[in-house]
Amino acid sequence: MVEQWLEKIMTSYNHDSFEARDSYAAQVYMPGKLFQDLVWWALQALPDEILVGLDIDANRKPNKDIENLFLSEQQVEGLFQGQGFVISEAHIVNRGDSYSVHHLPEDWTDDIFAPSRGARAGRFTHWLHTHPNAPAIPSGADADASQETSGIDLILGLRFSPSGPLPWFDDVEGKRRILGKEAALENKQQAKRRLFGGTQLPVIGMAPSGHMIHEVQLIAFHKTGLGINVIFIDDQDLPYGWDSLIVQ
Ligand SMILES: [Zn+2]
Repeated sequence: MVEQWLEKIMTSYNHDSFEARDSYAAQVYMPGKLFQDLVWWALQALPDEILVGLDIDANRKPNKDIENLFLSEQQVEGLFQGQGFVISEAHIVNRGDSYSVHHLPEDWTDDIFAPSRGARAGRFTHWLHTHPNAPAIPSGADADASQETSGIDLILGLRFSPSGPLPWFDDVEGKRRILGKEAALENKQQAKRRLFGGTQLPVIGMAPSGHMIHEVQLIAFHKTGLGINVIFIDDQDLPYGWDSLIVQ
């Protein structure tokens, strides 16, 4: 089951993805259940960042209507491995600070993952890492690491309380993609604001780890620097908010 608040913000993210579809070069599809796991793992690993290997299911593509809806005027065909497919597997591969998280342990070999990854046991297609209490904007180290990626790189940024040793770090330039701007706004209107460290922040959801989540950000990019559109899909492989998207 996917938390209702998370479904809500994935729906609004999909609407943004649709509106901004022409700014992207390609698409990938992220199941909501898998995304929820990523958010929980990110919080369980605090204060570390985590590096997660992602694989696609080569037999799982959304239907043509969905592909066509998110098609971009700047579409680049055959840009990367796994383009247009559904992300189907996620494995935590490393944890550490913003630099060490990208450096896999020296004894890291594909064999380590063989039992859990079946006969294919190859390298992962996409990589995602987390930015706890920081925006999802790539650092220089992130851009360097992406040069080895056969698919794309994703960054999950989370703003949460209690923040522990990680106060919100916001001194970064770049384009942000925030999930649930509407939810945050709604909370604001309902005056459901709470006081934390002198700042009032809307709470969009609660994590099993006990953290209050204020903001979720997700971006995806190709090593050439092109932006990739992420579309959240449900158990039927339909985008969250599909009904409201097709009437547009
Ligand atoms: Zn990073």
